[in-house]
Amino acid sequence: MIRLSTAAPDFEPAFQALLHQARETTEQVDDAVAAIIAAVRARGDAALCEFTARFDRMDVTPGQLRIAPEEIDAAVAAVPAALHEALDLAARRIEAFHTAQLPTDLKLTDAEGLTLGMRWTPLDAVGIYVPGGKAAYPSSVLMNAIPARAAGVGRIAMCVPTPGGVLNPLVLAAARRAGVTEIYRVGGAQAVAALAWGTASIAPVDRIVGPGNAYVAAAKRQVFGRVGIDSIAGPSEVVVVAGAANDPRRVAIDLLAQAEHDEAAQSILITDDAGFADAVAEAVTAEIPTLPRAAIAGASWDHHGAIILVRNWDEAASLTDRLAPEHLEVLTPDPAAFFAQVRHAGAAFLGPFCPEAVGDYVAGPNHVLPTGRTARFASGLSVFDFLKRTTWIAADQAALERVGPAAVALAEAEGLQAHGRSIAVRLGNGPAD
Ligand code: NAD
Repeated sequence: MIRLSTAAPDFEPAFQALLHQARETTEQVDDAVAAIIAAVRARGDAALCEFTARFDRMDVTPGQLRIAPEEIDAAVAAVPAALHEALDLAARRIEAFHTAQLPTDLKLTDAEGLTLGMRWTPLDAVGIYVPGGKAAYPSSVLMNAIPARAAGVGRIAMCVPTPGGVLNPLVLAAARRAGVTEIYRVGGAQAVAALAWGTASIAPVDRIVGPGNAYVAAAKRQVFGRVGIDSIAGPSEVVVVAGAANDPRRVAIDLLAQAEHDEAAQSILITDDAGFADAVAEAVTAEIPTLPRAAIAGASWDHHGAIILVRNWDEAASLTDRLAPEHLEVLTPDPAAFFAQVRHAGAAFLGPFCPEAVGDYVAGPNHVLPTGRTARFASGLSVFDFLKRTTWIAADQAALERVGPAAVALAEAEGLQAHGRSIAVRLGNGPAD
């Protein structure tokens, strides 16, 4: 963990170093992924079965790639009632928040008499990648599938690897609750290739969303253009802005909730009180050994953690904007006023009773958020990722006569005679047909 102070003469270069610190060692997998995609395009299901045997240690026939409804029923039945209730509460809240996002179509008639509009339509089919190599993520199933459903997407195909044939029943229960229409036991680059290009068993989709390891990320990059993709997620991060009125242990645990994700995760505290900074640092050190994921959390805090001492909250807001964090917790005396000063953050958690984990699971807004300072230009997953816009124009002769001559002039200036003529022949004073 590094400690910085805005009052120190060397603050700016030290902060720059923090901003540009490399956290991810991207594996060189592009060539391997290109070969996997080519094999799936050439040999379809046969290639999917071969890769599943090789990478997920599971023999399957093409007929077994899709998880049968009875298997999903059995998994759903195996989930304890308390977890079903938790899943349902989360799903209801995510559904409500995403449904509230749905935009309305635009229609206006302007001064020249043209009627202009913009119409939203959902995608026909989306693919959701659910990572399953090392851990299971039922919450990611909800966060990816429910916005698609809320947007009105008809077909939601999910791919999840089942290493050694093992699959967490809660992942299947979440998929059913979220309205996923089909589930395939395929992972990695081969799953992304199948969703993009289609095989006999898996029909192609229009957009692929969801996190995954280096193979999944590289495959999504390579199929982009054939299909749409969401962002490529990097290691997770949180900035906690907190004053001395807070309990140092609570703040320490919030920092560790991010650090336990991944050794490359980053947790940063910004505070205006040196004594509080010391107390949080001590609390983090005391708390780490109590966590089952102590090794991961400890490595993240040691290598990427930071505490920044500021002279006032204005400085804190400006540093927050420069960090553009994926998650921002605001524990200042007036969280709403502080948040009003911040422009770049994936998601904000305001006040002492909003630890980030409440947003990870049940609050309602999405937990798929821009990482690595991309919150400067990107946003979290929402219904807008599953909708597209079509603009439309309607005009009568009078309206065309008002705007048409300008279009003819511009078309002729561009040397596109047929463009200009297509308007001119419709104008009252245009050349004869
Ligand atoms: P995964 O499902 O992404 O990857 C497993 C697949 O990788 C296997 O099925 C296999 O096809 C492929 N693979 C593994 N080794 C390979 C090899 N040598 N050659 C070709 N393909 C190979 O699961 P994972 O590995 O557990 O990774 C999950 C990732 O997703 C982690 O990095 C995790 O941090 C991330 N994640 C991110 C979020 C988020 O919201 N940002 C949420 C959950 C998980």
